[in-house]
Amino acid sequence: MFATRFAPSPTGRLHRGHAFSALTAWGAAKEAGGRFVLRIEDIDPTRCRPEFEVGIHEDLTWLGLDWETPVRRQSDHRADYAAAVEALNGRGLLYRCFRTRKEILDAIGDAPHGPAEAARPGPHPADEEARLLAEGRPFAWRLSLDRAKEALGGAAWDALSFVEEGSGPDGETGVIKARPETAGDVVLARKDAGTAYHLAVTHDDALQAISHVIRGRDLFEATHIQRLIQALMGWPEPVYHHHRLLAGPDGRRYAKRDRSVTLAELREGGLTPEGLRTELNL
Ligand code: GLU
Repeated sequence: MFATRFAPSPTGRLHRGHAFSALTAWGAAKEAGGRFVLRIEDIDPTRCRPEFEVGIHEDLTWLGLDWETPVRRQSDHRADYAAAVEALNGRGLLYRCFRTRKEILDAIGDAPHGPAEAARPGPHPADEEARLLAEGRPFAWRLSLDRAKEALGGAAWDALSFVEEGSGPDGETGVIKARPETAGDVVLARKDAGTAYHLAVTHDDALQAISHVIRGRDLFEATHIQRLIQALMGWPEPVYHHHRLLAGPDGRRYAKRDRSVTLAELREGGLTPEGLRTELNL
């Protein structure tokens, strides 16, 4: 059955870009007679706030959307993600990383072969790791691309791909070869959150039987590593549809960090959902 989702992180109020994304996914579900899921991706304890989650419900209701209930809130399911991390760890695919964000960024600046190399810092030497553990220093779990490739087998690694029904930033469409190496040894469990975006999102897409991932083009690159995680975990492969990103009057794309006008402000200013749909061509 066709199933898609809108999976915002409650780190701010929604803006036009979110409305476009949510309406696109919801419209596709309606057209296919399928399911539409709202998922709250709030695993980042430093940036997510409950009032923004309330805002998401308010804004989507105003837009006229409906969705399955109960709504999955990722922070309520940390044990699920921990179990997936444990499963990968039990197969020897992860390593501990005690490095700080700053150390990784500095290494990226210094890396002779570019950021991809620095994004694969590798395990600490055993004695150093033992010392850091004994000191009680916090650590993240990273996915070792080398070990993942070994576990999957070279042929399966080379065959890893995804179907893109929308398009990537360079017009990529159709069957796309997955290049997980572009992501580096991604963190699958953050020091502070016990999980991380790529793991939680693929876990939930599988759990919620999402057949079509419809989302903004800014997440196209994330698909490469997400396909690898799905293959390692034996999770099904959804079809992907990355849609265009909305640009504001200045030609720059809408994003929370630019303080784009929020849906709440537009609503207060008298904009109607119909007016917004017309403006967004939906
Ligand atoms: N939670 C992610 C975000 O707000 C989106 C995840 C996804 O659609 O895959 O950027």
